[in-house]
Amino acid sequence: MVIGVPAETAAGERRVALVPETIAKLAKSGISAIVERGAGTASAFTDDAYEAAGATLASDAADVYAKAAFIAKVARPSDAELALMRPGQTLLAFLAPLGDPQSVEKYAAQKITALSMDAIPRTTRAQSMDALSSQANIGGYKAVLLAAAASPRFLPMLTTSAGTIKAQKVFVIGAGVAGLRAIATAKRLGATVSGYDTRAAVKEQVQSLGAAFVEIDLGISGEGTGGYARALSDEEQAAQQRILTRYIHTIDIVITTAAVPGRKAPVLVSEAAVRGMRPGSVIVDLAAETGGNCALTKPGETIEVGGVTIIGLFNLPSSMPSDASTLYSRNIAALLGVIVKDGALVLDESDEIVRGTTIVRDGTIVHEATNAALARSRS
Ligand code: NAD
Repeated sequence: MVIGVPAETAAGERRVALVPETIAKLAKSGISAIVERGAGTASAFTDDAYEAAGATLASDAADVYAKAAFIAKVARPSDAELALMRPGQTLLAFLAPLGDPQSVEKYAAQKITALSMDAIPRTTRAQSMDALSSQANIGGYKAVLLAAAASPRFLPMLTTSAGTIKAQKVFVIGAGVAGLRAIATAKRLGATVSGYDTRAAVKEQVQSLGAAFVEIDLGISGEGTGGYARALSDEEQAAQQRILTRYIHTIDIVITTAAVPGRKAPVLVSEAAVRGMRPGSVIVDLAAETGGNCALTKPGETIEVGGVTIIGLFNLPSSMPSDASTLYSRNIAALLGVIVKDGALVLDESDEIVRGTTIVRDGTIVHEATNAALARSRS
């Protein structure tokens, strides 16, 4: 089997789907790679490194699409890229089928097979392929670095000959993969850290990182299905916002990561919360791409409101492209271990990883949740 790796074309996307390390490993199981020249440049992988790993270099994307049966990408393809695909080819990328189910109809029209890295089940067996987690880890880490860089103050307590500087208070809302990484990073930088989540199950994880867990009693559990949070009712969200507003007034840096799959991000940091923070405070909103957890976030931008910096930048993993690509590439290799047998693609539908990940099969939309989202959008 030949895997094609075109250079990413989406604005701001600096990652690459496969790095040389993975390509060398795949070669041992009979999978060869054709890589567009320069595909790894933005993530610090040179063409020479790809060649040394055994990849063939292609002069342009059209050459990659023409010669490979299987295309590995990070971002979903543009219409121009999709037009380069032919019936029977397979595409693997972050396709976000539930965020934009209509886009899936284009893959079906092109009669390709489309696999989505963000649809891999969050199960123990699939952990090594879990690209949502590998990239969320990077987002959580980078969010704290951005906050520290934007802050006019030290994070740790410092005792100097000119007296003592107090540690800053960092509050992380949403303690999933990104949130826990943010908590661990802020702790390492010496901040006083607290975390909050509607899923009571994470309390222990937050505390095990040395952070305080903020409890808000909503009466009933915030746990949804599959380990995710459920969407809160309007009343629950209003109660949560009121309590959080008072607490946030005592905080210097807020990192928000709260998400409910397939929905707009819940607004947890109100305008009143922002306006009560002391000047120089920073909010990093990792949910900006789905609308934001802060009422004042401008998705994609960094703004200042009353001396408080609100960072709503997109795609933080792409700002650490080398390690983000390495982890993503390993995730892909682990998935290939399940779907490639004796050098050929075999999509065994009795396997829950295959069922979860296959969105379109030879032109037919087979993914249950995507079909349901499409039906909802038509009614
Ligand atoms: P996510 O990105 O969907 O959400 C981030 C966090 O926001 C979650 O912890 C969620 O509970 C929280 N949240 C949602 N609404 C909130 C609200 N109103 N207020 C406060 N917090 C709110 O989550 P994720 O990081 O993708 O992880 C989701 C689940 O998947 C977790 O249970 C995690 O342990 C699990 N998981 C399992 C595996 C595995 O077993 N392979 C791998 C990764 C994650």
